[in-house]
Amino acid sequence: MKERIGIYPGSFDPITNGHLDILQRGLELFDTLVVAIAHNIEKQGLFSVEERKDLILRSVEGNHNIIVDSFEGLQADYVRKMNARFVLRGLRAMSDFEYEFQIASMNRNLNPDMDTIFMMTSKDYFFVSSRTIKEVASFGGSVESLVPRVVEEALRQKFGGL
Ligand code: ADP
Repeated sequence: MKERIGIYPGSFDPITNGHLDILQRGLELFDTLVVAIAHNIEKQGLFSVEERKDLILRSVEGNHNIIVDSFEGLQADYVRKMNARFVLRGLRAMSDFEYEFQIASMNRNLNPDMDTIFMMTSKDYFFVSSRTIKEVASFGGSVESLVPRVVEEALRQKFGGL
């Protein structure tokens, strides 16, 4: 049987337990999931793409069904290049839906062979986003149990003395 490859694109700046939850559940649908870090030259993140990659790899250590990669440019082109058909995305609230609906529709317009699969967030992570995690950590708040331990440490190093 043909191997099913799913692409899980995003910023992952940094990876959170919300992302990991989608990844774990996504592996029920796909044999291999490629976590694809979108490299946006105009959007300077807190972590460099290399740092993000390293944090993801250390968070999913030992899981051979997960590949970590990065890409520049259009998601639709990257999916084609990877010979994949499906993109996996997580959905949190109504606000996610509107944005995701637009992107998924545009992607299909660009690459009619691709489709986007959405998974609803778990009740434990609906309020977790990389942005809020960074905000809380920057003010010295605890993000324990919302991000992997390696990310907690990396945030502590970035913001110092938490
Ligand atoms: P982007 O900048 O593309 O939104 P993110 O790294 O913020 O990248 O998110 C990547 C994907 O993971 C998106 O589909 C997003 O909706 C999903 N995601 C992020 N956080 C969560 C969460 N807590 N629960 C479910 N899905 C999530």
